[in-house]
Amino acid sequence: MSLLAVDQLDVRHGLLQAVREVSFAIGKGEIVALVGANGAGKSTLLRAIAGAHAPASGAIMFDGTDVTALRAHRRVAQGIALVPEGRRLFGGMTVQENLQVAMRVGRRGYWTLDAVMELFPMLRARRDALTGNLSGGERQAAAIGRALMTNPRLILLDEVSLGLAPVVIEQLYRSLRSLLAGGATLVLVEQELSRALSVATRVMCMLEGRIVLDCPAAAVTRDQIVDAYFGLHRAGTIARGRA
Ligand code: ATP
Repeated sequence: MSLLAVDQLDVRHGLLQAVREVSFAIGKGEIVALVGANGAGKSTLLRAIAGAHAPASGAIMFDGTDVTALRAHRRVAQGIALVPEGRRLFGGMTVQENLQVAMRVGRRGYWTLDAVMELFPMLRARRDALTGNLSGGERQAAAIGRALMTNPRLILLDEVSLGLAPVVIEQLYRSLRSLLAGGATLVLVEQELSRALSVATRVMCMLEGRIVLDCPAAAVTRDQIVDAYFGLHRAGTIARGRA
């Protein structure tokens, strides 16, 4: 059975339809790179799955349960964690406090303060710093750490590298790779295609609210993804080629 199944999802911002008739299923352990141009609907889709934005129609099933009408915090308790674009940490609280708050709403499991510090060494020395004073990379690490503290079964990670220096991105991806080696299920929105492909097992590309490509990462070339990105091969053989 799929861990996540999205069926005919439509999501609107007022009159604008940001996500159109989107359907897909993700199995446990899959690492999905969700790519697409600015405004394609990636963040809106992730927010709808996390319960931060109510869909206009369609259904979201998580581990066999219909969660479409469930509030965001109830979805966290079920095991869905969103790391939103812009990180959205509590700026007046320390790193440790941000992480501890997350623990209250989530599930019990492997992820504790110590485990998060182990995964993100850059956070260890900044444990007592206010998150408002962190660098961009530290903020992103804290935001991912906060999601992990809920012991999620599905992690939705929006714009990992946005605005960060290459050296910091490399540090974050090193941590991400050891997280994934532990068997996480992840949907990753990433503007840097090669970074996304370095960890993904599957690629989904959105264009104007629709998924126009969905296939195993090993079965698609960079050029084919770029074509899908710009809508050049909408009816191509690999589009939605995954069974
Ligand atoms: P980006 O990489 O720029 O974040 P995206 O693929 O994540 O792009 P979304 O942010 O989901 O795309 O945006 C999809 C569409 O919805 C765009 O046309 C965007 O302008 C619009 N949109 C997003 N958020 C809002 C909002 N809060 N109010 C109105 N329109 C919005």
